[in-house]
Amino acid sequence: MAMFCAFGIHKWQGCKCLRCNRTRDERDEQHSWNGCVCTICGKKRNDAHAWNGCVCTICGEKRNEAHAWNGCVCTICGCKRSPLSQELHVGMTMGQVQGILGPPSAQLGGGALLGMFGNVSGSTRATSSISQRLFVLWQKPEGEFKLVFVGDKLAEIVSAP
Ligand SMILES: [Zn+2]
Ligand SMILES: [Zn+2]
Ligand SMILES: [Zn+2]
Ligand SMILES: [Zn+2]
Repeated sequence: MAMFCAFGIHKWQGCKCLRCNRTRDERDEQHSWNGCVCTICGKKRNDAHAWNGCVCTICGEKRNEAHAWNGCVCTICGCKRSPLSQELHVGMTMGQVQGILGPPSAQLGGGALLGMFGNVSGSTRATSSISQRLFVLWQKPEGEFKLVFVGDKLAEIVSAP
């Protein structure tokens, strides 16, 4: 190690010392970011990924969205989804959904939701639209299905494995 570096006097170029190759990581802007990876020290950050669907083309990070499904297999990352989720469509009734998924593990709606949003009681319009929503959870071996019903109709598939 160079003498200066031994005394903590490094010759920084960005995140790396030109004399001793030591790296520093005090501030984000010290690094030379190519999207999510520093081109000098190789540090990764969970930001500015270059997503090709579900996989980052720079660092290889995967995300559980924007898969390119071919049937139940993603053609990009190779992950599989439950065939069950293909059968769910917005607009189905609760009865139809239960015919596919069986009885739900938990559900939250009406009064329970109003309790959660109790601190917005001044806004009755907001709470009444919340109170018509039913948040329903199925915990299945293949993962969690989180669905939102409005009235008796499936309004939103929040997540499905
Ligand atoms: Zn140094
Ligand atoms: Zn760096
Ligand atoms: Zn990335
Ligand atoms: Zn994928």
